[in-house]
Amino acid sequence: MSNIVYQSTRDHNNRVSASQAILKGIAEDGGLYIPTTLPSIRLDWDSLKDASYQEIAKLVIGAFLTDFTAEEIAYCVDAAYDDKFDDQRIAPVVKLQDNAYVLELFHGNTIAFKDMALSILPYLLTTAAKKHQLAEDIVILTATSGDTGKAAMAGFADVPGTKIIVFYPDKAVSKIQELQMTTQMGENTHVVAIKGNFDDAQTAVKAMFNDVTMIETVKSLGYQFSSANSINIGRLVPQVAYYVYVYAQLVKQSALSVNELMDVVVPTGNFGNILAAYYAKQIGTPIRNLICASNQNNVLVDFFNKGVYNRQRPFYVTNSPSMDILVSSNLERLIYHLTGENTDETSRLMQQLMTHGHYTITESMQHQLSDFFAYETSQAQTISTIKEMYEATNYTLDPHTAVAVHAYQQYQGMIHETVPTIIAATASPFKFPTTVMSALDETMCFADDFDSVQQLHEQTGIAIPSTVAELTHLPVRHQTVCEISEMQDTVLSFLED
Ligand SMILES: *Cc1c(COP(=O)(O)O)cnc(C)c1O
Repeated sequence: MSNIVYQSTRDHNNRVSASQAILKGIAEDGGLYIPTTLPSIRLDWDSLKDASYQEIAKLVIGAFLTDFTAEEIAYCVDAAYDDKFDDQRIAPVVKLQDNAYVLELFHGNTIAFKDMALSILPYLLTTAAKKHQLAEDIVILTATSGDTGKAAMAGFADVPGTKIIVFYPDKAVSKIQELQMTTQMGENTHVVAIKGNFDDAQTAVKAMFNDVTMIETVKSLGYQFSSANSINIGRLVPQVAYYVYVYAQLVKQSALSVNELMDVVVPTGNFGNILAAYYAKQIGTPIRNLICASNQNNVLVDFFNKGVYNRQRPFYVTNSPSMDILVSSNLERLIYHLTGENTDETSRLMQQLMTHGHYTITESMQHQLSDFFAYETSQAQTISTIKEMYEATNYTLDPHTAVAVHAYQQYQGMIHETVPTIIAATASPFKFPTTVMSALDETMCFADDFDSVQQLHEQTGIAIPSTVAELTHLPVRHQTVCEISEMQDTVLSFLED
């Protein structure tokens, strides 16, 4: 198998192996690592249709991370995708209606799709650290809009040689999301609420990764930074696997015949999940169009429709909070590919975004986006979609998945020929029970999230996931709150302990 080299989107001389890219998280120049060549995988659907999730994950992840041995990949995959998932299929496919299928990515530890990548990342990271005989322990710094933080901590808790520090926007996550984080076990886990929004947290975390003085100080304490955010290639690559898996499953269910095309709809925030679908297409999965679903924070809808990325706009806290993002970090990887893999041009555009808050892509770049469609779903449409789908199909959508279903409906109104379509379901309805339950019955009032969990269970008959049930009696272990300007000192105080 050919060796795949990873390179920064901002400097073609900054080249590393897959394991180094995973250890570093983000490149020193501020760029993101991308594979310089794509793996050539033989996708034999007639045999893949009978493969398990783990088998497909080994095939896909192994093909991208070429400096890991087959044994190392097998160890990581088997440790990650085990009975932490409450469904043996790991990512089950459910028929919604007609040609629409839901890919359920919420059967892991934290009942949201981030588990798909964050359950394997700690194993990839610690395996990479062993490979390079790292002297320092790894410190994972993570900014979260609610789900990543908990999923990362669940993955890293008590993993030897690691510490994890999570920052989330104070009062901007759901009660359940907050409790999931503040009750996190593990001596190596730390959680901090910051006085700012997700973008503030992400910007400050990125700044720490690039702050030479901070890096030196951290090193003198015996640590090295790494990232569990979706910019880490170790997050992106495992996500490619489920798009290969779902195609094989559709073949198995005779929903399509081999090499017939499917469309993919993804509720999008940081652009990680949909970028994984793009890479799945690049390596030969028969995908026709990629439909990017946004909530009221519609920066990507404007980008795909107008070729302008402009973050200077109001920031809305919506009922699909994990997509409340104005700077979609992973878009930089797509930009890099659109520039003809030109690191100077990519740097220039990203610099413009930093200094002016916007950039415009060229017409030739825009032409390459013909397989991307993008739609916005309002908060009211999110609610009505949950209600209508429940009434029509008896399927209960979480608000993020509802944003995707509504985008799918808008897209159906526009295209001529319908093909089997996969809608990525990114969270269990029990992660956002009050929003979901009030959509199902607008006359209801709830004392709190737990009350609505109970109501949702009674109304739909779906069992309450154990990770939600246990929150009512776990002790709160983390209570730190800080200003954006205090984030660096807060990190150092945890490392000096
Ligand atoms: C993170 C998240 C998203 C957005 O995914 P990206 O990869 O950031 O685009 C959508 N839905 C839920 C529930 C999430 O947690």
